[in-house]
Amino acid sequence: MDYEKGKDWHDPRIVPYGPLALSPAALVLHYGQEVFEGLKAYRGVDGGIYMFRPQANLERMNRSNKRLCIPELPVQETLEHLFELVKTEHEWVPTLEGTSLYIRPTVIATEACLGVKVSSKYLYFVIMGPVGAYYPEGFNPVRIYVEENYVRASVGGVGEAKTMGNYAASLLAAEEAHAKGFTQVLWLDACDRKSIEEVGTMNMFFVIDGEVITSPLHGSILPGITRDSVLTMCRHWDLNVSERKLTIDEVLEAQAAGKLEEAFGTGTAAVISPVGSIHYRGTDYTVADGQTGPLSHKLYDELTGIQLGKRPDPFGWVVKVK
Ligand code: PMP
Repeated sequence: MDYEKGKDWHDPRIVPYGPLALSPAALVLHYGQEVFEGLKAYRGVDGGIYMFRPQANLERMNRSNKRLCIPELPVQETLEHLFELVKTEHEWVPTLEGTSLYIRPTVIATEACLGVKVSSKYLYFVIMGPVGAYYPEGFNPVRIYVEENYVRASVGGVGEAKTMGNYAASLLAAEEAHAKGFTQVLWLDACDRKSIEEVGTMNMFFVIDGEVITSPLHGSILPGITRDSVLTMCRHWDLNVSERKLTIDEVLEAQAAGKLEEAFGTGTAAVISPVGSIHYRGTDYTVADGQTGPLSHKLYDELTGIQLGKRPDPFGWVVKVK
C-alpha cells in the first residue's frame, strides 16, 4: 500500500515476494524514518487460523508512526488487509505444535531526497514466514547481562516506538554480551543507570517476595503486547502486581535475601522467557534455583493455550481469520 501527500493511503495489493525498487536517496535509508511490527498467526487445535490481538499491534504501529512523523494507517482497513493476506497464504501457517507464521508489517519513507526532512511518500508492506517452535526441547532459562556502558533509549527519544534506530543502537552491546556467553542484554535507565528498562526484544518481569513487578511505560521502553497480556492475566488471578521503577540493586538485594522468586521476559517470539541468572559487574546472580519458576510456567501455558484455542479466551484476544 502506498502513501503520497494529498492522496492518503492507496493501492493495497498482494504481490509475490521479491526485492523492492527504491531510490538510493530514499529518506528511509539515510534518516531512519521507518516503523515495523511483529505478530503471529497460529494453527489452532481445530485446524483454524488464529491471530492474537492484531489490532493492538496496528494501534501500536500508529503510535510509532506518529512519533516518526509517518502518516497513520487506517486501523480497520489495514487489519482487513492483514487477514486477507494470511487467508491467501494460509498454507504457510505451519501445523506442528509451537510453530507459527511470523508477520512483519513495515512502513518506510520512500521519497528521494538527501536533505533531512519528513518524507511525502511511504510504502507499507507486510512480509511473512513460518517459524519453528521457540522451545522445541522445553523451557531454557537464559543468562542475561546487565549493560552499563551503553544505553538503549531515553525518555523523550524514540524508545517507545518500534523503529529501526533502537535496534541499530543496541547491536554493539548485544554482540559484546553474546561474545561473553550471554543471551540477552538487560538495559538500564539512561539517566539513573540503575532502573531496569527491558531486554533486547522483551519486556521484563520480576517476582520479589510475592510482588510481580514490571517497569512502567514512562516513555523509553516498548509497550509490549505480551507485557500487557501478562499484566491483565496476573491481575485477573488477583496477584500483587506493580508497574513501578525497580533498580538492579533492589533485585540483587532481594536475591541475597532469598526473596527473588522469578524473573522472566515477555515478547511475541518467546511468549515467556525465564531468566536463570543475571550478570552484573562481574558476578553471576542465580534467580531462585536457576530453573523456570511456577508463574512463568503458568503464564506460558495459559497464553499459548489461549493462542491455540485450547483454553477459553476470557479477554477476547484471539481473532479467527479462517
Ligand atoms: N521490547 C522490545 C524492544 C521489543 O522489540 C519487543 C518485541 N516486539 C518487546 C519489548 C515485546 O513486545 P511484544 O510483546 O509486543 O512482542
